[in-house]
Amino acid sequence: MHTPFFPRPSKRRLSTTPNKEIAGLVAALFSLMLLLAVVQFHGLKASMLSDLGAAAELIAQNASHAIVIEDDTEAHELLSALARSKNLLKARLESPDGRLLAVYDKGHQAERCDELMPLKVSRPVLAYGKPVGQLILTASSHKLLSWTAVFLGIGSISIAVAWFTSWLSARRAAKAARQAQQKLAWMSRHDPLTGCANREELRAHLRERFQSSPKPSALYLLDLDDFTVFNAAYGAHQGDAILRVIAQRLQTLVKPEDRLARLSADEFALSLQHGSEHSLLEFTTRIQEVLREPIFVGDVPLRATACIGVALLPDDANNEDSAIQAASAALSMARHAGHGSVCRYEEGHDRKLRDRADLTDALRLALVRGEFRLNYQPIYSVHGGRVNGAEALIRWKHPSRGLISPDRFVPIAESSGLIEEIGLHLLGLLQRDRQAWLCAGLQVPPIAINISSLQFPKEQSKDRFLQQLSALELGPDALEIELTERAAFEELEGKDSIIHRLKGRGYSISLDDFGTGYSSLSYLHRINCDKLKIDRSFVRRMDENPKAQQLVKAIVEVAHAFHMTTVAEGVETEGELNAVRNAGCTAVQGYLLDRPLDAQAFGERLAALNGRASEDAA
Ligand code: C2E
Ligand code: CA
Ligand code: CA
Repeated sequence: MHTPFFPRPSKRRLSTTPNKEIAGLVAALFSLMLLLAVVQFHGLKASMLSDLGAAAELIAQNASHAIVIEDDTEAHELLSALARSKNLLKARLESPDGRLLAVYDKGHQAERCDELMPLKVSRPVLAYGKPVGQLILTASSHKLLSWTAVFLGIGSISIAVAWFTSWLSARRAAKAARQAQQKLAWMSRHDPLTGCANREELRAHLRERFQSSPKPSALYLLDLDDFTVFNAAYGAHQGDAILRVIAQRLQTLVKPEDRLARLSADEFALSLQHGSEHSLLEFTTRIQEVLREPIFVGDVPLRATACIGVALLPDDANNEDSAIQAASAALSMARHAGHGSVCRYEEGHDRKLRDRADLTDALRLALVRGEFRLNYQPIYSVHGGRVNGAEALIRWKHPSRGLISPDRFVPIAESSGLIEEIGLHLLGLLQRDRQAWLCAGLQVPPIAINISSLQFPKEQSKDRFLQQLSALELGPDALEIELTERAAFEELEGKDSIIHRLKGRGYSISLDDFGTGYSSLSYLHRINCDKLKIDRSFVRRMDENPKAQQLVKAIVEVAHAFHMTTVAEGVETEGELNAVRNAGCTAVQGYLLDRPLDAQAFGERLAALNGRASEDAA
């Protein structure tokens, strides 16, 4: 990846603030230490001078006799008594006129003439209260100085060690703070799961591109198909792993000057410096190719697909926000087109999407206000007027827009998730209408309702649907199920599939719009349906088209081989009716025989048909 997961800390100079604080502290400690040293120095000096003074006092008291009798030898012996005094350097005994009477010089013996600041003490020598001489003692200050030097040395070393450790920890703290700051800055611009740029970083990149680069570029938005389903099935941990693999693969398609971003859970964006329609097509193919490479979850190979929306820049937008908006609009259109679809932004997409959003809100309101009704289109036996059943078809009369076709609003109900609630609501409507017909003493055939696989996004949705059937007492004699080939194929696997569970309760299942979806006859036995509804596109003008006749005949034969009955949909002419009859279809449905009727009209039709049946019986 071009974008590192976390950036290295820069070699920028460390902040000087902690150093200044430490220097201040060191200066303060140093001053304190000097002050202490001076105090200690003077204290020690005073004590040494006092010792020296005491020694001088003692000698001076005994020296008067030697001075008075002028006995040099005695004077000398007296001074020699000071030899044991450790610090003494010199002792002089002088007459009052300054004449040297005796001297004791330890400095000579010890060869210590290096005294910087010797300590001196003098005491008068008294005889009968009168001064007869002067004793001057000179002592070494070496001990005093060396002690002070040791004190200063130890103090300085301690301060230096303290300074160094605090400098080191301050440096470490500053480095950690800087790293945390850089990590925060990185995280504010990136997606921590995949390391891709996030929306903010993408916006900054696009802004820069709009400002600086005159070259055309393209913004791709990708939405992984069925990622929520995958997450629910395998768990969020595996989901994260898949996202990381996909991000790595997409990154291989991106040059350093381009950008890959993750905008939401399963939505990625690629900003690339190319902008021709041709390169666009080529690139979307490459994206789908890298996604389709198997990703193994344990032993299971998964192949991802995505819907892709593309905006060409600067053609489709003039700033970063309108670019993302245009690509999002194109992506939404691609999503509506189905799995793996690619859509290039076109003017008008935004309006269409706004319409969709408006319609979604209106659908939500319609559920609350009870604006939905059911119409019923009878299904007749191909050989006469006997009614075989009926198909319930939803109708929505919007208070201001009037009737809105199910072809327009059912897909929106499906993509918005509202279809689940609408489906449950319709069961209630059907039961209400059925009760009215039964109360009128009519014989009511089983009514087929259309269900969509998107009606069951969760396992609970299936439970709710089945519970609603039980609660309303809509049993297999009252209700049949129609679902499209695609829905049936998606539901194929698993014992918990809605087909499986409905079949288990005895409901008859019809495969709707046969021929428009997978159209694989070989799959019919696996789907295990009871009826096959041949799509109107085969039936239309079938009487004029021998190939269509052969095809329908073949479908009917295979269906019958699998013990399925067949219904021809959308029969509008006598010619078409004859053709489907000749092809061997079991039942027919279409405008020729009846249009979808409201509940009351359907009741009247049932009454008429019931009457005819009793007349026939009589
Ligand atoms: P579908 O299930 O194939 O329903 C048959 C459609 O063909 C109905 O359209 C019906 O009015 C129409 N039709 C019947 N005979 C003829 C004919 O002779 N000629 C022509 N041209 N059309 C004929 P409708 O009611 O507009 O429904 C359209 C689609 O909307 C349905 O197709 C079905 O896919 C969906 N739909 C309708 N009601 C429901 C519902 O309650 N739930 C769900 N999930 N989908 C529904
Ligand atoms: Ca149908
Ligand atoms: Ca149909």
